[in-house]
Amino acid sequence: MNKLHVVLFLCNWGPHAAFQTLQDRKDAIPEEIRMVRVPCSGRVTRALILKCFEMGADGVLLAGCETGSCRYGMGSSAALSRIKYMRNVLKMLGLGEDRLRWGGFLPDDASNMLAFLEGFCRDLRALGKTPILSKTLGQKPQVSETAVASLLTRHDIYACQDCGKCSSACPLTLTGKTFSPRGMATHLMTGALEAPEVLSGLWSCITCGLCDDRCPSGVHFPDFIRDLRSLYGSGNDSLPLAHGGFFQSLMRTMTSPDLQPQRWDDLEAGIEVDSESPVLFFGGCAPYFDTYFTRFPEVRTNVVLQDALRLLNFFDIRPRVLPHERCCGHDLLWSGDRENFLKLARLNTEAFHAAGIREIITACPECYHTLAHHYPEHGLNLPCRVRHILEVAEEHIAKGAIGFKDFNRKVTFQDPCRLSRLEKKADLPRKLLERLALAGFKEMADQGQSALCCGNCAWTGCDRHTKALQLKRLRQAKDTGSDLLVTACPKCQIHLRCAMEDPFHGKELSMEMMDLTSLLAKTIQWE
Ligand code: SF4
Ligand code: SF4
Ligand code: SF4
Repeated sequence: MNKLHVVLFLCNWGPHAAFQTLQDRKDAIPEEIRMVRVPCSGRVTRALILKCFEMGADGVLLAGCETGSCRYGMGSSAALSRIKYMRNVLKMLGLGEDRLRWGGFLPDDASNMLAFLEGFCRDLRALGKTPILSKTLGQKPQVSETAVASLLTRHDIYACQDCGKCSSACPLTLTGKTFSPRGMATHLMTGALEAPEVLSGLWSCITCGLCDDRCPSGVHFPDFIRDLRSLYGSGNDSLPLAHGGFFQSLMRTMTSPDLQPQRWDDLEAGIEVDSESPVLFFGGCAPYFDTYFTRFPEVRTNVVLQDALRLLNFFDIRPRVLPHERCCGHDLLWSGDRENFLKLARLNTEAFHAAGIREIITACPECYHTLAHHYPEHGLNLPCRVRHILEVAEEHIAKGAIGFKDFNRKVTFQDPCRLSRLEKKADLPRKLLERLALAGFKEMADQGQSALCCGNCAWTGCDRHTKALQLKRLRQAKDTGSDLLVTACPKCQIHLRCAMEDPFHGKELSMEMMDLTSLLAKTIQWE
């Protein structure tokens, strides 16, 4: 029962020949090893490595060709850089980086390979079983007419007057995508539960809420989509998720109660936290994003968390941080995995209660919306109020006696959907921006409640249409003549930066970005 399980990804070329020699010689290959032969170690993605751990592997090995002898040139070096990244992730997750190892082999390296396998298994036995509870791959669920009808009723979809305002407002429909919220709802109302428009539309919607805002009948389409995804997607492992489902896997691993993610080892000098404080700063997943998107050196969303803490210190708040903080679960809920969202939410709620927390402050609009609304909606009563750092900042700055250093940049603002539309707080960042000593502030063509989304939500539905939407948004930002695009959500920065990598238009639309929290922390001063 306590037997360890090790997945060995074995490159088809040098390493496989070496492994075959071990088998031919009938050498004692450690019994924990389960071999998976792959065309090249460079083909083993980060999502695949994490999936092994999500499914309960105690260790993962990647055996590629000795660097310099890769048949495809770059395979071994690509695998090595992934291993480096993934070892970091395992460390942050509290699993321990030593559960993952790389080895490079030539075809006649059989004895070295045996020593490598034995050494890894010996070290792994010392580490013991993984604390992650094994998840099995889900089956495609059977969606019943009754369940869909109940959602149609719960979200007032029958109130639809077929006016078409949602479709004409939907930024995806406007990119030319064959997708219409109204069309999809109509198919469902007529019982066409498996219509292609439904099956693709379900994962296309970026839940930006623009349609919600325009609907005269009060149909809340994004909430409907969220719940519909749970119905169609719950437990189903073949969903069209961005990055191979890496981020969903990451969040699911955190649902294991015995896993203790290691957070806040990286607090910068001068930042003060108080392990007894009833005020909690909840950071969210920014450090994982920064590690994943290392190829976007301009995106360092963890900086936002450090700046948020500096800002709180400036207001004489020394908050608590939880050393084993888990993700809030937003992306699981919005990508159809309500079951695991609930597991995460329960673990978080227990941790808040156990720590005697009376207030939670966060710098992420998704964490904010999830903790403030989705937890209570799911029967999880937090022992406290939840506030966004910008609300805290506005409260303190509005008292007076605080000024801002000159910041000689022309600025425009990207509204995060969760803050500006779902929370209806578009005025909040603008009030703060007005207080800053900027060289100029200019709104984009679509702004506030009507702003365009950064193009992705919950790592679903990323395609050429969402890319077109992002480029449209960046064009709007450029058209303001600004030289700094300010956001208030780490993910807006990531998705828009990704669009700036577009080989055709990216360079022309590239712009420096900064989170409003960082801008406040950088320029604030006592008068
Ligand atoms: S805007 Fe509302 S009423 Fe009009 S078609 Fe869309 S869902 Fe129906
Ligand atoms: S939530 Fe956004 S993407 Fe989805 S249907 Fe509405 S406007 Fe379109
Ligand atoms: S826009 Fe880029 S970063 Fe965002 S989900 Fe798509 S590929 Fe990933």
